Amino acid sequence: MSNIGVLIETGDDGVKEANFGVITAARGDGSHEIYAFVPGASAESCKSILQEYGVQKVVELSAEGGDLTSSPDRRAETLADAIDHFDIAVLLGLSSAGGRDILARLAALTDVALIQDCVGIDLVAKTVTKSHFSGKTLATIKFNSNPYICGLRPNAIEVQAAPCEAEVISYQAAVQDSGKLVIKEVKQSQSTTVDLTEANVIVTGGRPIASEDNYKILRQCAELVGAAVGASRAAVDAGYAPHSMQVGQTGKTVSPKLYIGCGLSGSVQHFAGMKTSKVIVAINTDKDAPIFGKCDYGIVGDLFEVVPVLTEVLREQQDDG
Ligand SMILES: Cc1cc2nc3c(=O)[nH]c(=O)nc-3n(C[C@H](O)[C@H](O)[C@H](O)COP(=O)(O)OP(=O)(O)OC[C@H]3O[C@@H](n4cnc5c(N)ncnc54)[C@H](O)[C@@H]3O)c2cc1C
Repeated sequence: MSNIGVLIETGDDGVKEANFGVITAARGDGSHEIYAFVPGASAESCKSILQEYGVQKVVELSAEGGDLTSSPDRRAETLADAIDHFDIAVLLGLSSAGGRDILARLAALTDVALIQDCVGIDLVAKTVTKSHFSGKTLATIKFNSNPYICGLRPNAIEVQAAPCEAEVISYQAAVQDSGKLVIKEVKQSQSTTVDLTEANVIVTGGRPIASEDNYKILRQCAELVGAAVGASRAAVDAGYAPHSMQVGQTGKTVSPKLYIGCGLSGSVQHFAGMKTSKVIVAINTDKDAPIFGKCDYGIVGDLFEVVPVLTEVLREQQDDG
């Protein structure tokens, strides 16, 4: 039996949903003990939700040298200390914006192998799967180090519950840091309320959206189902949306349960960022558009007519309870 660590990300609403797939992956064949590391947050408040997915130990991490939110270096040093203290064989986290930062710092600090943006992991074979060349190939990569670190793409692993009773542990690491880097303020992007890379549902608008203002049609629909709103590069280049909303080869890589593409032709470069979506729905006026050959459901129609109807139906469903 090995101890598997999971770096938990929390937000204003507590534990982020995207963690549950990572915990599911960490369970593997069920023979491991799962340690959920909660840096700078209350383990007690995270316990009830984490134990639903099979976490046995919820570890509240803190550092003697100061708080963990303002110093990425101190955060990484604290995690490195905890990996050693709890004899962690593998640390899993999310390849989110925060995860990419902290896991890379941790790997550099500990000189441990790290692979990011994985879509699968086999803890017995010590391999991960990861897409390459804009999603055209899926590579299997083997770790030859102990311990090792893996960043999983948000939503890539299907979540499965495995309720158990977790124990809460407080661990204070004896770390100081140089103080070279201090985060003073974090400003939330105005572009979307739900993080694109972690969203379960994404509604994306392409070039025909035609203006920044028209994105409100998509936002009204997205808000009803807690979806994030994305954009194609054509829409971003035209100035209709900020780059933070761009999905694709040179934008964000997403893996939602449902991806609704409104006015997208279905370019290879756009698909490079969203082809692992579980269900893809396309709305396009051209019945011969390439996207209809790559989606699960297609609607031949004008997005300015179809999306408001969809919004109305969703609103009615919500009103009916
Ligand atoms: C190196 C490189 C990197 C790139 N990276 C990215 C990337 O990260 N992300 C990305 O998206 N692109 C990327 N691109 C650009 C990509 O090749 C396409 O040009 C782009 O994705 C097209 O965007 P689009 O589908 O919104 O627009 P278009 O290709 O113009 O397609 C618009 C579609 O909307 C349909 N349409 C028109 N009016 C309506 C309407 N009213 N209702 C419904 N449908 C309508 C049309 O029939 C058409 O199929 C990259 C290109 C290169 C060369």
